[in-house]
This record gives sequence, structure tokens and C-alpha cells, in this order.
Amino acid sequence: MSKYVYSFGGGKADGNESMKNLLGGKGANLAEMAGHAALRLPVPPGFTITTEVCTYYYEHDKSYPPKLKADVDKALVTVEKLMGKKFGDPKRPLLVSVRSGARRSMPGMMDTVLNVGLNDVTIEGLIADTNNPRFAYDAYRRLIMMYSDVVMEKAAGIEPKDGKGIRKILDERLEAVKKARGYKSDTDLTTDELKQLVVDFKRTVKDVLGTPFPEEPQDQLWGGIGAVFMSWNGKRAVEYRRIEKIPDDWGTAVTVQSMVFGNMGDDSATGVAFTRNPGNGDEHFYGEYLVNAQGEDVVAGIRDVAPINENSKNAQSAHLPTLEATMPAIYKQLYDIQGRLEKHYKDMQDIEFTIEKNKLFMLQCRVGKRNGTAAVKMAVDMHKSKLIDAHTAIKRVAPNQLVELLLPMLDPKAESATKAIAKGLPAGPGGAKGRAVFTSEDAVKWAEKGQKVVLVREETSPEDVDGMHKSQAILTSKGGMTSHAALVARGWGKCCIVGCSDIEIGSDRKSFRTKSGAFVREGDWITLNGTRGLVYLGNMPLVDADPSKNETFREFMKLVDQNRTLGVRTNADSPKDTKKAIEFGAEGIGLFRTEHMFYGEGSDKPLFLLRKMIMSKTLTERKAALAELAPYVKADIKATMEALEGRPITIRLLDPPLHEFVPHAQDKLEALGRELNVDMAELKKRAEGLSENNPMLGHRGVRLGITYPEITEMQVRAILEAAGELIKDGKKASPEIMVPVTCAVSELVEQKVIVDRVYGEVCAKLGLKEIPYMYGTMIEIPRAALTANRMAEVAEFFSYGTNDLTQMGFGFSRDDIGTFLPDYLEKKVLKDDPFQTIDQEAMGELIKIGVERGRATRPKLKIGICGEHGGDADSVKFCHRVGMDYVSCSPFRVPISRLAAAQAQIETPRGAKPAAKKAAKKPAAKPAAKKPAAKKAAKKAPAKKAKGKKPAAKKAKSKK
Ligand code: PEP
Ligand code: MG
Repeated sequence: MSKYVYSFGGGKADGNESMKNLLGGKGANLAEMAGHAALRLPVPPGFTITTEVCTYYYEHDKSYPPKLKADVDKALVTVEKLMGKKFGDPKRPLLVSVRSGARRSMPGMMDTVLNVGLNDVTIEGLIADTNNPRFAYDAYRRLIMMYSDVVMEKAAGIEPKDGKGIRKILDERLEAVKKARGYKSDTDLTTDELKQLVVDFKRTVKDVLGTPFPEEPQDQLWGGIGAVFMSWNGKRAVEYRRIEKIPDDWGTAVTVQSMVFGNMGDDSATGVAFTRNPGNGDEHFYGEYLVNAQGEDVVAGIRDVAPINENSKNAQSAHLPTLEATMPAIYKQLYDIQGRLEKHYKDMQDIEFTIEKNKLFMLQCRVGKRNGTAAVKMAVDMHKSKLIDAHTAIKRVAPNQLVELLLPMLDPKAESATKAIAKGLPAGPGGAKGRAVFTSEDAVKWAEKGQKVVLVREETSPEDVDGMHKSQAILTSKGGMTSHAALVARGWGKCCIVGCSDIEIGSDRKSFRTKSGAFVREGDWITLNGTRGLVYLGNMPLVDADPSKNETFREFMKLVDQNRTLGVRTNADSPKDTKKAIEFGAEGIGLFRTEHMFYGEGSDKPLFLLRKMIMSKTLTERKAALAELAPYVKADIKATMEALEGRPITIRLLDPPLHEFVPHAQDKLEALGRELNVDMAELKKRAEGLSENNPMLGHRGVRLGITYPEITEMQVRAILEAAGELIKDGKKASPEIMVPVTCAVSELVEQKVIVDRVYGEVCAKLGLKEIPYMYGTMIEIPRAALTANRMAEVAEFFSYGTNDLTQMGFGFSRDDIGTFLPDYLEKKVLKDDPFQTIDQEAMGELIKIGVERGRATRPKLKIGICGEHGGDADSVKFCHRVGMDYVSCSPFRVPISRLAAAQAQIETPRGAKPAAKKAAKKPAAKPAAKKPAAKKAAKKAPAKKAKGKKPAAKKAKSKK
């Protein structure tokens, strides 16, 4: 029979840290802290109800396994014994917290109820026991607030009238009393006022929700347990899971733990700390605390939190006394514990503690969330100090976290010339800008209309996650470095400034004013420097980060490169992008899209000549236009080759359908007509002749070269001459000529005849014995993948074009997915966008087949990928596993792919390459036997196959 309840406390625990799936992160770590021989920390005793019960609950119409009640009763007795108190006892009542805890931390997304067990009778016992009526009534009013919100409203599925929930209503009651008395802080409220609030709260709960607050402690306990399970499927939790890709069927555990109180007076406190600074990774104990406070006060940003030590001070908290100064003995104990915890877990820990009457209790520890900068620093430092090995250090940083280090920053020049309008705490680094919006709903709405927004709030709550996610940055006027906004933004690596008390949000909730006198209305642009905590008015320029100047980043990437076997190239088509990519660690170009020279800056002349070529009618006309165009193509390729300093460059022959380049503007058409000496009617007729119903499946890629061999010839000549000229100049060049959109080996054979001829001519012209080059193909049509064994007879390399492969494999038009793919993802018809992450189930199968069959023919076949997926960490790992030689991605994704490649090598060392293994088994895979065959195919085949092919292509064209 399943064990549903695991106890901890008194130096013992049924569970341990390895049982996160069953006990949730919180339950497992409480068990570890309480029971592990190396720790045995002061943890208030309690028990955890497993995630299996949550699954059962949802599978059985929200009911519990029959034996759960008895198990909970038994566990509660154990807690009672350890505490010397009894749950529901009028004299010495035990109070408990009921807390959620999933396998992976979902900060603030699920619910918690504190002080369970208090009622009009037990409160007398609590007062007698503590001799502190003020504290007791404060605890009671908190219970009513939390319970009515979490259990009686949210879990019961009650939609608040006018959007104002019971918590807000009660909060307003409390604020009204404070205002009437002129109090600043909750702690100013007297016993009588709190007592009166309790009566008032109960009446309000009954009035608003229709049912009375339950007095019976057992009802409170089970109400709390049920509410935690219900909160697993609450809106916030579901949204967060969707963003973080946490499976819905994991479920949450529930931990019931005896209460300790940080709100028993000035000798009590509560706090949150990190064993290292989660904002920048510095190796300093870092945290915040509040005297005479309970539970969520620190995270909620209700009061100004104080620093635990000097290292935790910031501009807002510098004047407040540190824990180290006010409670030195407790601080020392806490410091010692955090050191032991980090050593034990070998990772930065996020800990929650409470001090009750000068006694320290540990309420939680978990691996601390950190931003990318901090993740890299901690990994490097912990590796250097031998706390962790290289593999662990590499695994500690999620590839996408590196984005933050490569993130744009505010242009320093513009920043130094501008005065900040406000300063807050730098919770999430980098620069960001957008239009100010003041609610999460507006952030979502504006962002969906394509606007860049910055979400400005007093503080954020878990309800805001969707809006936070859609914003460029988050700015809050309250809250510290451990507030909700800071934690969530840090987890996402988003630019974030919290505790910006320089700003005051207007009562209209659509504007803010700063102490410096600035006024910002909804929709106004603001720019944030999240690294320094500065807010600026307006839309300021951002600049790219320069990771090459970041020593820690460099050290980390060195470790990464020592541990990867998969190469990383870049998709680039200009010397500028190439240089940037090399700085980021690219080892060559995996895709040079020739057509890019016809777009953007400096493209006027070559584009005009290309158009001239396209609109030519006769071979003579076309050849003349190509001859004019050739020097531009050569110069473009040569400049990029030079920037590569000998690194390989895969140059793709012209890919898009020619019609894409036909001009539409009258003046452009006229100019072309003059140049070609034809009238407008004729020109329009020519343009229409090029139009296609389905251009992506039309006359593009190699098909152009088959119809117009002279286009291939011009490009190949340009490539080989560019390389040859560099070589003659004593430089290096390693071009790889790549034929796109192929579906049959005969296409490659036909084009190879041209390449061979031009090669001979260029060598002769330049007086070179040889120009090193390779000849290969894109694999982007399913037929090409399936006939990879034939393709490899001629192709010396493959590069997977997974953009087109996905398009043709799924039958989803790349350019039209916007209309339906969001629904597929929303309704979970598809788990991921297949254009972002390789669909391993089917596209992956095609890739594997291609690798396997290609290498069966040509064992040393070089294989890479140049679709967008080459910069997606999961896809990179897949490419590693199937045995590719390299991935290629945009310059800014290069470090991400390097890291993903290293992690892939650690997870699946190359020895276990499935594709390579299988290929190696086949007798045909012997290199010596195959190479000549491939050469033969290339030499022999053209005449026959080319002839057979040409008429077919022509037929297809004439249909239109
Ligand atoms: C591809 O199809 O994956 C590819 C890289 O080519 P393009 O995106 O230029 O079609
Ligand atoms: Mg393509």
C-alpha cells in the first residue's frame, strides 16, 4: 500500500532530498534539513502529504485515498508530541501552516495558509501560552484573511464581484483602521484594534462569501489541504506551468508544519536569504529580514526590509540595522547553517528562516533561482574552489540564461548624457525599454498588439505573471531583492527594477510621478537600466553587450568548449556579422545566404542587375546581366571569406523564387524597361510570367540552376575565384558550395558538371593547381532525406535546412503559421512550435534516416544543420545525439549552442552516437570502398540523367 504521509522533525525524517517527485521540493528539503546526519537543523516538525495524493484527488472527483485521514491523524500526533502542544487544544494549542510544494519551485503560484488551528477558544490558550494577546490577535486576523481568500474564495471557485476579492476587501478594512489612527505600519495596531478587526473580518467574510469562517480546527486543516491541491490547477499555476513547461500531471505535495512565529515582538523576525548573491553571483551571504513579522511579509514587499549584513545593503536599505548587528548570536548561527547547507547541496541555496523569541528556525531551503550573470559566476567560482566538477559547472547554466549576458544594455553614451528620473534596486540586469502600462491585463493586451511595454506596479503578485512575461521589463515601487517581482524576473532573466520608492503611482493607476518631478502617463516610453536600477524617460538607444570583456564568461565558455564535440558555426552573410559571430565563438559559417546581398544597405546596384537578369528573355541577355552582376557577388563572398580567416564557409547557391525580386514600384520598373530596352507592357508580361501560385514549392533553389545553368555557373565562378584570389594572396579560404532545395541525386549530378568545368577554368585562369572546396547539398525536402544514400554519392556534405524540412514535413506554410499555430499550442494539439524546436518524433526521424543513409554511402560525410533550430538548445542536443558534426545558428545564439553542445556531450557522450553506430555496422560504410563509387557517380551520371531531367522541368514550367 502506498505511503501517503512522510513525517519530519526531532532530528529524524521519513523522507530525504532525493524524493522531490513524491514530496515536492519543499517537503523533500525539509526532510533533508531535519533528518540528514550532516544537517539536523532546527526545523519545526511537520509532515508532507505526497504528490500521489494530488493525482488521486484529481482522478477521484476531488476526494482522498480512504486511509489518508488516519495517516494524517497519526502524523499530527507525532508533531504534537514533539511540540508538547495539541491541535485544537484550548490550553496549549498547536498551530500549523499548510503549504504547497511542487517538484520544481513555482514561486508564489500556489497557495499557503498559516496559523491553522486558531479559533475563538484556542486563542485564549495561545494568549495564556505566549502571554502576548497582541500577537495572538494578529495571528488570528491573518488566518481569517488567508483562509477566506485561499480556501473559501479561490478554492471554492467564487469569482469576486467587480473583481475585488475578499483579501482586498479585508485589506482595505485594515488600511482604514490604520489611516483613521494615523498609523504607518501594521505593527502600530493595538491589541484591541486587532481584536475588533477579527470580529469585523468574520462578519465581512460571512456577508461577502455567504458562509462563516470555520471555527473547527480539523475543518480548517482539511479545508487548507484541499485548497492547496486546488491551487495546482489555479489560473496562475497553470499559466506559470505553461511558461516554464512544467507538466500538468506532476501535482503538488502539501506540507503541514508546526508554526513558529516571527511576529512575537522585537526579539522575533523572519527573513529570506541566499548563500550567494543571486543578482550578480558574488560569493557573499545575502539576504533580507523583517523584525516582528510573519510569513509572506518579506516577499510581499509590504514593509521596507532590512539587510541581514553589510553585503546585503542597498540604496534603500542602507540606513536600516542589519541582523548581524541586532542579533549577532543568531546571525552567527544562521551564517554557519547557510555554509553547511551550501556545502551539503553543493549549490546556492535560497533559505527561509524565522526567529521566534531569539530562537532560530529553518523553514525552507531550495536551490536558489539566479539570473544568467549570477549563474555563470557561481558555476565558475564553485568549480574553481572545487565544490563542483567541470561537468556540474556546465550543467548549472541553462543555455538560454546566456542570452542575458549577451543582452542589450543601455548605450553608455546616451545614458551618461541623460538624467535618470528614478532609482530603484537592480533586480534583473540588462537594458530594456517600452511604453509604460500599469496592469498585467494591459501588458498582455498591448503586447499582443505588437507594442513593447514596461509593466509598472507598486508590487507584483502571482496573478501578474502573464503580463510580466509579456513585458520587456518590470518596474515596481515597493519590494526588495527577494520580492515576487524580483524572484520571477530573475528566473526569466528579464530586466527588472524593484523597490523604486522614487516613483509614486497615481490614484488613476495610469500614471506615475517621480520625486525628481517627472510625470509618466500610460503609453509613454521609459527605458530601464536593470543592472544599475535606473529609470529614464523616453525611448533610449540600446547597445549589444560585449561578452568578450567579461572574464568570468570567457572562463565559463572555455570550460564549455573543452567539453563539447559538436562544432558550432554561424549563419552570416556579411563581414560584420561574421566578425561578431567569431567573437562569440563561431568556428565557421554554416549558411551564407547569397541572396542577402540583394537586400538592405548597399544593395541597390546588385539588386538592379539581378532584376535585369531575371527579366531577361534570351540567353544572351541573361548572360550579359550575369556578367555585370558577377563582380558584386564575388566581392561580397570574398569579403566574408576574408573575415573568416580560413574558417570554412558554406555558400548556398541562389535559393528564393526569382519572382521575389521582381520590382513593384513604377519607377523601378521604368528604369528596368529602359535598361532592357523594352516597353512597360512587355516588362509586365515578363513579370507576370514569373509569378507562381505556390512559390515556396515552385521555381526556386536548384531548380533555377537546372533551368538556367548560367546562374549556377556565375555563382560558382564567383566563389572559386574569390577563394583562389585569397589563396594567391597568401590567405586561406575553405568554401563549401551548397545546392539548395534538392530532392534527387540527379540534380546534384547535373550541377556538379558545371562546378567541375568552372573549377578547371578558374584554376587555369588564376594559375593555381588546386583550390580546396567541397560540394554538398541542403537536406530540406523529405525525399532528399529518404534518398540520402544516393545524395551522398555526390554530396560531400549535408546541411539540414530544418525550416523547409519542417514546412514540407508538416505541410505547414512557414509564412502562414501565425493564423493557426497559436491555437495548436494553446490547445496543446502540439507541445512546441516545430519551427523553433525540432519535432523529434517525425522530423527527427527523417534527420536520423538521412544521417544514417548518407553515412552508409560516405562514412566521413560532413553533416550539419542550418535551419533556425541550430540555435535552439533542445534541438542542438538532438543534433549531437544523431551524430552531426556541427550546428549553425545566428551570431547571437552561438554561445547558447556551444553550451547546449557541451551539455549534450555530458548527457550523451559521443561514443553512444546512435546514427554513427548503425551506419558503421553496414558493410557499405567502409570509407575505402565507398569513396571511389561516389566519385564515379559524380563523373558518370550527368550525361544520362541530366537529359532525362531537363524536359520534365520544362514541362512543369510550361504548365503555368
Ligand atoms: C532552411 O530551410 O532550414 C534554411 C536554412 O533555408 P531558408 O530558411 O533560407 O529557406
Ligand atoms: Mg530552406
